[in-house]
Amino acid sequence: MMDFDSRERGYPIEATSGVEGIYLYCRACKHTVRMRWADVVATWAVGTYTRDIARSLKCSKCGARQGSIQSWVDSRPRHARHLPDTEPYPIIGPVIRS
Ligand SMILES: [Zn+2]
Repeated sequence: MMDFDSRERGYPIEATSGVEGIYLYCRACKHTVRMRWADVVATWAVGTYTRDIARSLKCSKCGARQGSIQSWVDSRPRHARHLPDTEPYPIIGPVIRS
C-alpha cells in the first residue's frame, strides 16, 4: 500500500513485475479500480516512484486527489486463472495524462 501522503517515496516501477497490476484507490470515497501492469508502465514511465503515482491520481468519481495504490496479485491457482474474473473493481486501460 502506498498513499499520496506517505513519508516514504516507495520504489521505482520496472518494465515487468511479478504482479498482475495495481489497485488504484481513492481514500476520500473508496472508489477503486484496477490497472494491468503493462498499462501502468504505459501511463507512468519506468522509474516513476510509487508515491508519485499515488500523488498523480485524481479520482474519476469524486475528484479528490487522495490516491493510494496497492499491488494486484491474482491469487487463484494457475489452472483457474482463465476463469472469469469475479472481483468487483473494474479494470481500466492506460490513462492519458495531461
Ligand atoms: Zn473518490
